[in-house]
Amino acid sequence: MQDQLKIFNTISGKKELFKPINEGRIGMYVCGPTVYSDVHLGNCRTFVSFDFIYRYLLHKGYKIRYVRNITDVGHLEGDSDTDAEDKISKKARLEQLEPMEIAQKYTIGFHKMMDIFNTLPPSIEPRATGHILEQIEMVKDIIDNGYGYVVNGSVYFDTVKFVKDKKVYGQLSGRKVEDLLSETRDLKKQDEKRHPSDFAIWIKADPSHLMRWNSPWSVGFPGWHLECSAMSTKYLGKTFDIHGGGGDLKFPHHENEVAQNYGACNCAPANYWMHGNMLLLNGKKMSKSDGNTVTPEQLFTGDSPHLTKGYSPMAVRFFMLQSHYRSTLDLTDDALKAAEKGFRRLMEGYKNLQEISTSGSKADAALNEKIEKNINGLYENLDDDFNSPRALANLFEMVTVINAIANDRTDAENLRPEVLEKMKETFESVIFEVFGLTDETAGGDGQSDDLADGLMELILDLRQRAREEKNWGMADTIRDTLKELGVEVKDSKDGSTWTVNT
Ligand code: AMP
Ligand code: ZN
Repeated sequence: MQDQLKIFNTISGKKELFKPINEGRIGMYVCGPTVYSDVHLGNCRTFVSFDFIYRYLLHKGYKIRYVRNITDVGHLEGDSDTDAEDKISKKARLEQLEPMEIAQKYTIGFHKMMDIFNTLPPSIEPRATGHILEQIEMVKDIIDNGYGYVVNGSVYFDTVKFVKDKKVYGQLSGRKVEDLLSETRDLKKQDEKRHPSDFAIWIKADPSHLMRWNSPWSVGFPGWHLECSAMSTKYLGKTFDIHGGGGDLKFPHHENEVAQNYGACNCAPANYWMHGNMLLLNGKKMSKSDGNTVTPEQLFTGDSPHLTKGYSPMAVRFFMLQSHYRSTLDLTDDALKAAEKGFRRLMEGYKNLQEISTSGSKADAALNEKIEKNINGLYENLDDDFNSPRALANLFEMVTVINAIANDRTDAENLRPEVLEKMKETFESVIFEVFGLTDETAGGDGQSDDLADGLMELILDLRQRAREEKNWGMADTIRDTLKELGVEVKDSKDGSTWTVNT
C-alpha cells in the first residue's frame, strides 16, 4: 500500500508519512559524483542506498522520474566556493588532458562500477556542463529577486538578506543562523563578499582556468551548488518530492541549494530531504589522504592490507544493505566475512524454497502464522523509512523454516499452499527486485548451471586421471587455476568436490 510509507525527512528531523505531489508519481533527485577520480566505496554506498530506495518505490508501483547528475564543473578543491582550483580542471592540467576527457574517463568508470553493483540507471543523468544556460538564467532570477550581487564579475548569494526574509537557512544541517552569520573565514576573495556566509553562484575565471563560459557578468563558471538547483528545476519542476545525497552534503551544498531555489522562485525545491550516512573503514572515516581507504577493485580482489581475501560485488551489496541507510557503516574484514556468509545462506534458502511443494495436508497453524507475520513485518519494515536490516531479519526467520524443511526436520506438508506461494513471491521480488541482489553462483539460467556442472565434472575427472598417473604438476595446475577463477576444489578419500567462492 502506497499510503503506508514513512520517510525520515532531514528538514523536520522526523519520520513523516510520504505524500507525493501527484498521486502515484514521484520526482526524485540525488546528487551524483564529481567525475575527477575513480569512484570510491563511500560514493558506492550512497548510490547503492538510493538504488535500493528507488527500487522499493518502483516495487510499490510508483511511476518515478529519478534524476542523478554528473558534476563535471564547479566543484572546487576542498569544497571551497571561490579561491580554489576546479577539481576536474586541476586533474586535466596535471594529466595534460582536456577537462572533458577527464570527465568522460571517470564517468565511464562510475557507470561500470554502478553496473557491477547492479544499480539501476537513473531516468535522466544530466551533466553540469550541459546546463550552463539554465544556470545563468537562475543566477539572473536570483539577482532580479534581490538575493544576488555582482562584484568584479563574480556573483554572490546574499545569505544575510535571505535569512532576514525567509529564515530557512540552516534547516538541513541544523546550523544556527546566528552562528552562520557570525562566521569568519580567511579567504582571498573574502573581501568581495558582503558577508562570510555568502557564497559564489557565478565565479569569474582566472586566466589559467580551463573551463569558462560567457555570461552577463564575466567569462567564468557556475558555483558548485547551482547545477543541482538548475537541473532539478528543469527536470522535476520548482518543487518536487525527494532530494537525496550523502550526509556530508547537508552543508554547504544542500543548504545553499535550498537558498538558491528560494532566491530564484520563492519556493522550496523538495518536500522530503533524505541523507545517507557515511562509510567508515575499521571505525574511522574512509579517507584517501591518510591511507585509510579500500577501492572497490581491492575489495573484489582482496589486494589490500585491510583485507584477508576478496569479496564479490553482491556480498558487498548485501553487506551494505545489512545496515540502515541512515546509520554509519563500518567496513571491516570480519564484517565482510559475516556478510558473505549471510548472503550465501540467504541464496541457499532461496534455492531450497524453489524445491518445496505442499498440499497442506498437515497444515500447522502456528508455523503458517509465523511466516505470514514475517512477510507482513518485512513490508512494514521496508515502509518504515526503508529499514533493510530489519527486512533482512524477516527473510532470515523464514530461511530457518525453509532450511528445516529442506533438511527434513520439518514436514513441508505443514505449510499451507497459499502461504508457500506468498513466501516464494516475496523472496523472489524482495531479494532480486527490491534489494537488487543477483545470484552469483548461477549462470543466470538453468542451462548455464547444467553446463557449469558438466564442465566441472569433466575437469575434475581429468585431474583425477592426472593424479592416478602421478602427474602432480598437472593436478596442481588445474586446482590452482580453478582457485584463481574462484572455484575451490577439496580432495577427500571419496573424491574431489568443488564450491564457488561468492
Ligand atoms: P562526490 O563525488 O564527492 O561529489 O560525492 C558523491 C556522493 O558520494 C555524495 O552523495 C557524497 O555524499 C557521497 N559520499 C562521499 N564520501 C562518502 C562516504 N565516505 N560514505 C558515504 N557516502 C559518501
Ligand atoms: Zn548536488
